[in-house]
Amino acid sequence: MRIVGVMAALLVGGINVASSQVVTSNSDEPTLYKYCQQYQTLYTKIREQSITPDSARQQFSAIMKGLQERFRSSETIPSDSLQRDSLRRTGTYFSFPIRGYTTSAIGGTHGEGYRATGFDLFDHNVRGSHPAQDIFIVDRNQDTVDDRTGKPVDILAMTSGLVLAVETDWHPGSEYRGGNWIWVYDPILHGLFYYAHNNKVEIAPGQWVQAGQKLGEMGRSGFNAYKTRSPTHLHLMYLQIQPSGLPLPLNTYPWLLTAKLSK
Ligand SMILES: [Zn+2]
Repeated sequence: MRIVGVMAALLVGGINVASSQVVTSNSDEPTLYKYCQQYQTLYTKIREQSITPDSARQQFSAIMKGLQERFRSSETIPSDSLQRDSLRRTGTYFSFPIRGYTTSAIGGTHGEGYRATGFDLFDHNVRGSHPAQDIFIVDRNQDTVDDRTGKPVDILAMTSGLVLAVETDWHPGSEYRGGNWIWVYDPILHGLFYYAHNNKVEIAPGQWVQAGQKLGEMGRSGFNAYKTRSPTHLHLMYLQIQPSGLPLPLNTYPWLLTAKLSK
């Protein structure tokens, strides 16, 4: 673990040096991709509990600070926190993450499925919280095909961002709860969107996605999501990155209510 930590620090150090020099758009990609690789490796370790929560926190924070630094130099990214806050308040910034569905598909009547208390991204022994919104489709026979259209249902990016990590290899019987998940980093909000239980993932780490772009197709992957007692849904979580580099879950419900719908 210590070696990995040192390597991460060296990489971030290297990137800071590079970013103060003339950087062409071509040389950006491998750098961002390195963060994606680091995040994918780290999240896999957290999930497999092969890293202590403290080391995981340290590495996570280094990756997030590095990403923020990397995007800070970009002129298209508002760095002003007032600008960011006003963006978050306007619905036009967000796309509803499921094609063909509206806010009535959100679980509960007022989004009360969101329970952040006790959540710890770095310690999977902590259970009982649900810092997310579940959004359901019409799939009574649980074949992941929409009963109304006879077609799979597209999962769309809520905002534009960098695909940080994906899981594409979940099998029934696996104890992992997220199934086939997708992490997208939004450099404007400086936060992470997590889309879980997908059937298909159609994007890859390092790729830039636009708000409303297809990420994959809804599924029932994940230890609990696969069980017949669970209706087919998207598990949508957003983590706001704090100045410390550590994540704090935020309720996406107000954003979902005003998000742009896709037919
Ligand atoms: Zn959920």
